Amino acid sequence: MDASVRLGRIAGIEVGLHWSLAIVYALIVWTLADQVLPAVVPDQPQTAYWIVSAVSALLFYASLLAHEMGHALVARRLGVKVDGITLWIFGGVARLGGDVATPGMEAKISIAGPLVSLGLAILFGAATFALDATGGPPLIEGGCVWLAFSNATLLVFNLVPAFPLDGGRLLRAWLWRRRGDRYRATAGAAWLGRMCAFLMIGLGLLELFVLGALSGVWLVFLGWFLMSAARSEASQVLMQGTLKGLLVSDVMSRDPTVAPGWITVDEFMRSYIPGGHASSYPLKTFDGALDGLVTVTRLSQVPQEERHIRRVRDFGIGMDKIAKASPGEQVTAVLDRFSTSDEDQMLVIDGGQLVGTLSPADIRRALGAPARSSS
Ligand SMILES: [Zn+2]
Repeated sequence: MDASVRLGRIAGIEVGLHWSLAIVYALIVWTLADQVLPAVVPDQPQTAYWIVSAVSALLFYASLLAHEMGHALVARRLGVKVDGITLWIFGGVARLGGDVATPGMEAKISIAGPLVSLGLAILFGAATFALDATGGPPLIEGGCVWLAFSNATLLVFNLVPAFPLDGGRLLRAWLWRRRGDRYRATAGAAWLGRMCAFLMIGLGLLELFVLGALSGVWLVFLGWFLMSAARSEASQVLMQGTLKGLLVSDVMSRDPTVAPGWITVDEFMRSYIPGGHASSYPLKTFDGALDGLVTVTRLSQVPQEERHIRRVRDFGIGMDKIAKASPGEQVTAVLDRFSTSDEDQMLVIDGGQLVGTLSPADIRRALGAPARSSS
């Protein structure tokens, strides 16, 4: 989801567009102008078909965005951090930065999007009737019918109980409330999500090979996407379940070797690399103050002929670009700081003193052997 273009902020929420939308937009406009509208409202000028199609497709995207806005605004109201919304080929994703604390919150956030879609379906349906009753332009009426239908489809599709679709999230909230365990509920919802995905792929293949309908490809594609989304989301939640309750101090590498930043790369390579097993070293200034961090990978990329003149700190990452944590924080609460850091390293600082480092390798070790320290 990286190849997205920033669209701007709406109600304080960052909105981005994935490039795949441009292709889908063209496809929607073409299908509408060339097939759907001429079939529903025949004998209109060509340009009128294209204009109404272009506007309708835009309104469809606005509907998608409104659906995601529903999720995002309710989440924010409930105190969950919202990272932003990305619209892409399969609809939209509201990215929540924080954890949803209760099944009730999960249910409210999940139902908000479908409720917006329901409202829009009713709105465009009502517009259709109003235009029909007053004898308004038939082509615009056709556009409204299509928008009402699209929003209704969006509503129904999202309510399929296939995690991570909204319906799957509602199911998880329900299981979570019943069993009192978010992680088991996620595993259950993800299982059903995978079954739904298999069903979609199976139906798609049947459609494609038995009926010869090309739209089967779409179902297969959708099922495949759902399956991978269910898997990645479930593993993320289950990982957080394993890490739950662990503190940074339980997981971090203690007492890291701090290297002087003022020595040359050459000298560093001779005195620290042989026998050292760390992939990165915190650096200190001549006065002993913490001065960022350097990775062995970066230093090994320095050309041989420069190593005896360049200083280690020239290849280090400054303090302002490294993620920091304190030993008493929950591991699950600091995980997303890795993505904001220039390197996959975190400095663990306690009262101004460096007490450890935290890397994805430390997290993996903790996941392999979830042992709690006795403290
Ligand atoms: Zn939704």
